[in-house]
Amino acid sequence: MSLAHLLLRQARLDPGRAMVFHGSAVHASAGQWAARSAGFAQRLRAAGLAPGERIVLFMRNHPRYLELLWGAWWAGLVVVPVNAKLHPREVEWIVADAQARWAFVTHDVAPAPLAGIEHQIDIESADADALLAPASDFEAVPVTERGPDDTAWLFYTSGTTGRPKGVMITQRNLMTMGLAYFADVDAVARDDAIVYAAPMSHGVGLYAVPHLMAGARHVVPASGGVDAAELFALGAALGPLSTFAAPTIVKRLVDHAEQAGLTPDDAARSFKTIVYGGAPMYLADIQRALKLMGPRFVQIYGQGETPMVATALARYHLADAAHPRHLDRLASVGVAQTPVRMRIADAAGRELPTGEIGEVLVQGDSVMAGYWRNPEATAAAIRDGWLYTGDVGCLDGHGFLTLKDRSKDLIISGGSNIYPREVEEVLLTAPGVAEAAVVGAPDAEWGEVVVAFVVPASGAALTDEELDVHCLAQLARFKRPKRYEFVAELPKNNYGKVLKTALRERLTPPA
Ligand code: AMP
Repeated sequence: MSLAHLLLRQARLDPGRAMVFHGSAVHASAGQWAARSAGFAQRLRAAGLAPGERIVLFMRNHPRYLELLWGAWWAGLVVVPVNAKLHPREVEWIVADAQARWAFVTHDVAPAPLAGIEHQIDIESADADALLAPASDFEAVPVTERGPDDTAWLFYTSGTTGRPKGVMITQRNLMTMGLAYFADVDAVARDDAIVYAAPMSHGVGLYAVPHLMAGARHVVPASGGVDAAELFALGAALGPLSTFAAPTIVKRLVDHAEQAGLTPDDAARSFKTIVYGGAPMYLADIQRALKLMGPRFVQIYGQGETPMVATALARYHLADAAHPRHLDRLASVGVAQTPVRMRIADAAGRELPTGEIGEVLVQGDSVMAGYWRNPEATAAAIRDGWLYTGDVGCLDGHGFLTLKDRSKDLIISGGSNIYPREVEEVLLTAPGVAEAAVVGAPDAEWGEVVVAFVVPASGAALTDEELDVHCLAQLARFKRPKRYEFVAELPKNNYGKVLKTALRERLTPPA
């Protein structure tokens, strides 16, 4: 069993079919993709890389990402996708932990040699051309077989609490993730196309798997990133695109649609499906997105330890406005995806009744094998066959999961629990608020107090008093922010997640 067979199958079926695009230009047919990946596999094996060895990908989005990924799997190797925005020091830590000798980079992301790497290949260099030169016959290069429990993708957690951990994602995990896409997210036709605008080292890169399973096309924007105008134009040129992005990136698309005066019909010409997840999507934001871009959204909730597969909020549920619980559902993350079971547990791991708030546990074939060389962390995360996600939420009687926050983001003020997301949801409905993030600041009297970082919409002049009145009209008094910090932007990582740790660091502890 190997994910490489997915490519072999498509290449056999229709070798001449254009499958990989760079902008609107064809980068590779199915046969070329397979031949380059097979050639790459052959050369890396000949260079002494053994099945199970790790190779690092530290680069901006590039069509060669796909050739490297499938080439690595063809050779039985493990890919370590690294966030392109990491500091070289952080990458070197990952390199050492993963015990990787080879790294494939783009010079913009990695201008200098990485310590610990023996072979650092710029993927736009002549060395890379040679490594990726097509095998004369891809059928003649055997796929290195792997077991379902062998690691395929060693994904490093963002490490907001301590050192990043290498999550061992297996062949089976990724096959399961790919099939769950069809069961829970969207049907994929051969003429569909996925666009890699968000970083390929994260969620959207994994969605290459279901799109290859379905024989669909793969598009890397010429800019290599998120440029809303470019994406709308690309979709209009190639046919409606599907993608995955964090809510902050979705917001950029929606802002563009509004500023450019586009209608939902225009949006339909450019986008088939926009899957969002990875961070909270606030009610006000999804309502605006649906209004401006029409019913082309699906939400997923997952994490590195069960990639892309925990829950999904289907297009149907997002559209079902007549349902009495419609707004609750919009604010939820949907129901457990097909391959997993889910439960809410108390601190001792006991299952809690419907409606009660506790930690979200997940079980199923999408859940990681464990943390690389870290049995203690594995034992803490997977207990009695359940993954402890660290997320806090509750299930309703129909199976919809509403996430509160990560347990470490919970604010405890005067002994009462405050979920930042609830306060953020309210702030975002205040006129003139573009973005908001709420954290707890240490306080001598209350333990913690609520502090809101608010990004005003352009041209809006906000005051503490106005926001206070707005919050008091909708929130219990003890939950309202005690302080507002007006900022031009919120700190975010490369995947579009707001960095609450960075916000907390800005708050000075009491003297
Ligand atoms: P990562 O492992 O970097 O993908 O981060 C996973 C974490 O992001 C989860 O544990 C959640 O805390 C958060 N997350 C993922 N999807 C969603 C979602 N749809 N809504 C809210 N938070 C989410």
